[in-house]
Amino acid sequence: MHILENPIDYLKGVGPSRADLLKKELRIFTYGDLLHHFPFRYIDRSRFYKITDLKGDMPFIQIQGQIIKFEEKGHKKSKRLIAHFKDSTGILELVWFKGIRWIKSSLKLDVDYVVFGKPSEYNGVFNIVHPEIDIQDNNQGNNVNLQPVYPATELLNAKGLNSRAIGKLTKVLLPLITNHLEETLSPYLISKLNLPSRVKSFIDVHHPKDAKSLVIAQKRLKFEEFFFLQVHLLKIKITRIQKSKGYELENIGDVFNNFYKKYLPFNLTNAQKRVLKEIRSDVRNPVQMNRLLQGDVGSGKTLVALLSMLMAVDNEYQTCLMAPTEILAQQHFQSITEYLFKMDLEVELLTGSTKTKERKVLYEKLESGQIDLLIGTHALLEDKVRFNNLGLVVIDEQHRFGVAQRAKLWKKNTHPPHILVMTATPIPRTLSMTIYGDLDVSMIDELPPGRKEVKTIWKNDSSRLQILNFMREQIALGRQIYIVFPLIEESEKLDYKDLIEGYNAIEREFPLPDFQVSVVHGRMKAEDKEYEMARFIKGKTNIMVATTVIEVGVDVPNASVMIIESAERFGLSQLHQLRGRVGRGGEQSYCILMSGDKVSNEGKTRLETMVATNDGFKISEVDLKLRGPGDMMGTKQSGVLDFKIADIVTDNKILNFARKEAQLLLEDDKNLEKAENINIARAYRPYARERSGWSKIS
Ligand code: ADP
Ligand code: MG
Repeated sequence: MHILENPIDYLKGVGPSRADLLKKELRIFTYGDLLHHFPFRYIDRSRFYKITDLKGDMPFIQIQGQIIKFEEKGHKKSKRLIAHFKDSTGILELVWFKGIRWIKSSLKLDVDYVVFGKPSEYNGVFNIVHPEIDIQDNNQGNNVNLQPVYPATELLNAKGLNSRAIGKLTKVLLPLITNHLEETLSPYLISKLNLPSRVKSFIDVHHPKDAKSLVIAQKRLKFEEFFFLQVHLLKIKITRIQKSKGYELENIGDVFNNFYKKYLPFNLTNAQKRVLKEIRSDVRNPVQMNRLLQGDVGSGKTLVALLSMLMAVDNEYQTCLMAPTEILAQQHFQSITEYLFKMDLEVELLTGSTKTKERKVLYEKLESGQIDLLIGTHALLEDKVRFNNLGLVVIDEQHRFGVAQRAKLWKKNTHPPHILVMTATPIPRTLSMTIYGDLDVSMIDELPPGRKEVKTIWKNDSSRLQILNFMREQIALGRQIYIVFPLIEESEKLDYKDLIEGYNAIEREFPLPDFQVSVVHGRMKAEDKEYEMARFIKGKTNIMVATTVIEVGVDVPNASVMIIESAERFGLSQLHQLRGRVGRGGEQSYCILMSGDKVSNEGKTRLETMVATNDGFKISEVDLKLRGPGDMMGTKQSGVLDFKIADIVTDNKILNFARKEAQLLLEDDKNLEKAENINIARAYRPYARERSGWSKIS
């Protein structure tokens, strides 16, 4: 057994009860787990602050002084201990809410202490809540400049296993393992990038001598973390290219050319042309294409998909398009049949509500090869759906489908068909490189000409009247309006009440017979929903009151106003998706964000970002910063983003670097067989084993 696999119980200073705590609270089971439990911050012990120099927003700092008085305030739950702490320049308050009796008995008045903590200001007085305290002499005895701060939990703190105690444990651990930590990077990389050894990096990250050695140690460990991930993703891609034989779509023939020259109602944007070329150069190779097409809402992805599908038809393959909802599938079917109206092609629709009788006919036509293009929902995945010769699959809004579902489509022909997945949820490049590192990514980064930017404004209840008038004006101009209410699970009942009240209020303001109002929400029967949606799409109703069920894809070019109620409760990417429902026709469109008066700082940032920009990529960058990558769409289930030390947002330079080095490495030695890469090969094997389930992320 490798020493890093030793149970944490064996470490000196860890008794059975501490071992239990470490396992339960921090999931530290082994020496290796502790080694990878990195400090998330360091306290600069090299300088002392004076109380007069304190400011509102400071990091953790240290101050020298004495306690001159204790005071207890409040009772029961609000009970707290306050120590008045004085230095030569002023007084601040140290505050404890827990362990009051113990703290009071262990601290003395008029003794020289060093206090660590994050100061905050309240009523003009600075205080530090639950500070760390050292006796002055003790502190001078050790000349540590940067004290590590480890993630700990409330319970651990209460049980005395706080950051400092964990620091002591890593101090015991490090000397035990230094002779057993293998280098994982090649000597070539280490010298090229001028990195410290692995052992030194671990030592310096846990207990840095100074800021310089800390920074370089972090850099090395972050690089390593990104590097192995990138090697892994690139290797998956190489294997796919080697193993999965695909269909050569060599010809651009009559179908494509006729459509392109005669029936295409407008010129493609440059971005559409570029992406089409990328797809074309993929599918003409005997290797399966696995491409992600990103493009903001309304950027014209459907048309690119259609043209790609025609390439398959030209080469006598069938092709299909799968959408996440019935409404979307129907819309795709409708617009595609319109596009192809004058072409001699067989296009069919298959969804959950296709009647059994029709289904039977459809299945037969599909198996005999009569159908060229099949459009549908999850229904396409069923085993009964058998193609004669499926060559290319398009998946719209791919994040709505699970990995296993998508993999089913791979099996619908002898070799896997070419796959084009489309998403309107743009992901920042750093992230897509990591989540979709084994896919090729195309981007439509340009909207068709003539689109007017949606005007976005942020309002509160005091503007209700004004907004109602504005709605009347827009309806008088013949436009349609969406009003969206939030629906989140925890408070579903309340939300539902809000929605219904909102609907009633709108019906009062916009009464029959002059106005027609639709409502769509999750508690309605599917067919009632469809019916109401259809009425709105056909222009029979003026206003659609809905929950976020309308978020994805719906295309009603005549709708020019999107009103989002309690907008502060929506995530950024959701707000952007909703806004994408308007601005699809030639008219000036509007998005009105309604919020309460109390909006959190984060909520403000979201709403301000929406007002400031229409650019989905900028929005997703802000979203990533606010939420962190863990919450981004589609990343949760993949587990790709569980980094121990690297941060995909702040370390994206190192990520780019790691990607480049991984590419160079594999170009030169794709099976990691060369002697000079032996360290990498040895470290990679267990890494890949742990992640073997990833290979079909798409
Ligand atoms: P997406 O699926 O990317 O949100 P769509 O493919 O639905 O966008 O396109 C949005 C609208 O723009 C559709 O009405 C489509 O007909 C139109 N469109 C697409 N490409 C162009 C273009 N090159 N020029 C003008 N209009 C376009
Ligand atoms: Mg679309």
